[in-house]
Amino acid sequence: MAWLRRRLRHLPIQVRLTLWYTASLVVLLIGYNIWLNWRLEKSLLAQVDTSLALAARQAQAAVLTAGGSPTFIQSEALVGLEKDFALALVAPDGSLVEKRGDAQAPVLHHPQRGFRTVESRRAVEEDMWRVYSVPIEGGWLQVAHSLGQNQATLESLEGEFRFTFPVLITLAVIGGLFLARRALRPIDRITRTAGEIDVRDLDRRLAYEGARDEVGRLAATFDDMLARLQAGFERERRFTADAAHELRTPLTALRGQIEVALTRERTPADYSATLHTLQEQVDRLIRLANDLLFMARLDHRLPALAPELIVLDDCLPLLIDAVQALASQKGLQLATDFTPALTFNGPLDLFMRLIHNLLDNAIKYTPAGGTVTLGCARHATSIAVWVQDSGPGIPAAHLPFIFERFYRLESDRARHTAAGAGLGLAIAREIAHALGGTLTVSSTAGLGSTFTLRLPA
Ligand code: ADP
Repeated sequence: MAWLRRRLRHLPIQVRLTLWYTASLVVLLIGYNIWLNWRLEKSLLAQVDTSLALAARQAQAAVLTAGGSPTFIQSEALVGLEKDFALALVAPDGSLVEKRGDAQAPVLHHPQRGFRTVESRRAVEEDMWRVYSVPIEGGWLQVAHSLGQNQATLESLEGEFRFTFPVLITLAVIGGLFLARRALRPIDRITRTAGEIDVRDLDRRLAYEGARDEVGRLAATFDDMLARLQAGFERERRFTADAAHELRTPLTALRGQIEVALTRERTPADYSATLHTLQEQVDRLIRLANDLLFMARLDHRLPALAPELIVLDDCLPLLIDAVQALASQKGLQLATDFTPALTFNGPLDLFMRLIHNLLDNAIKYTPAGGTVTLGCARHATSIAVWVQDSGPGIPAAHLPFIFERFYRLESDRARHTAAGAGLGLAIAREIAHALGGTLTVSSTAGLGSTFTLRLPA
């Protein structure tokens, strides 16, 4: 059985489908034939029994009991009955008294009231008989009818079945194979197309136009997957191109400065000044490289997201301390608006990095004299941590894009060449997602911006 199952598994699906369907049809047809034979045999027998009972009633009228022993009296009815039935009179001890009609008909020597099917040993061809016994005065009357006709009818039906059965099965196999092949043809097409598609033509689609059935849904899912892959590859390609561009700009600047420094002999003080500038550029490059690495790891969910209990009362003041010097240097005021005793579970490092990025931006973009506020509060189903500044705000046209990788406002591109590469907010939002939360911004040009992180409570 296991061997057969293994063999079957290696057959093409259309052959397997046809085999299963044919096997069920064979079982069904054979079952139906058996049932039909049984029903027919029963109903034919019932007909014989009815005619036997009728014949017995007529024959009884032609029996006369004289001296305790029954005998047939010659009558027209009896002659008519003898043509179709065998009639017998049997004494109570079972001995035959008189017999009429077919001589081959069996006689029951131990009669019981009712019908019996008997095999006639003497008969050559018609060997099955139906015998009806009725008690009469001085013995038994037995009426018998051959079942040969019934058997012939059943056999002819059986013969027809034997002939039509293989024809039906052959037609079913041919039809089954044809249908299975037709039904599976679109899958063949999908397989062929899928085999042809590679990274260079991810814009190809199956564009299946058939019904939205199992195959239609498979094709649509496949097309959706291609679209997602294409978007993913496109995103990756853009990221690589942007990253290369971001790396090239400071490297070109570095090269320019080195070239200028080497054009002639310089004083040690000049060399030192140049080296300091170069160091700043290199620091920026290192920051950029670190950010890129971090993004790549986030993409592949590499940072160990071991969650721990984060107590905001403990870690938010640490973040304020970390940026205090920078804020004072820029002439900014740092304020806090904390709801005490808020906690949640998550990876602490990622959370600190997210809020640090927001604080860093707020300080970077808010002009001297402004205020940056870090706050936290509890809402019905979430905890909110926000960073608010009184800076220039972000024009509405830019708001939908500022979380995209490498996105910077044109004005900031020009103004802050030594600042970030437009990765800070992209990293912040990805961390927010990794924490199971959301990061949103609301900003009014000229009035400042508020970045809010919402975490499930
Ligand atoms: P960057 O590293 O250049 O700061 P970010 O991804 O952190 O990149 O920010 C993207 C852009 O969004 C910035 O270039 C800046 O124009 C704008 N931005 C971010 N935070 C603020 C803020 N608090 N106020 C005004 N503009 C901001």
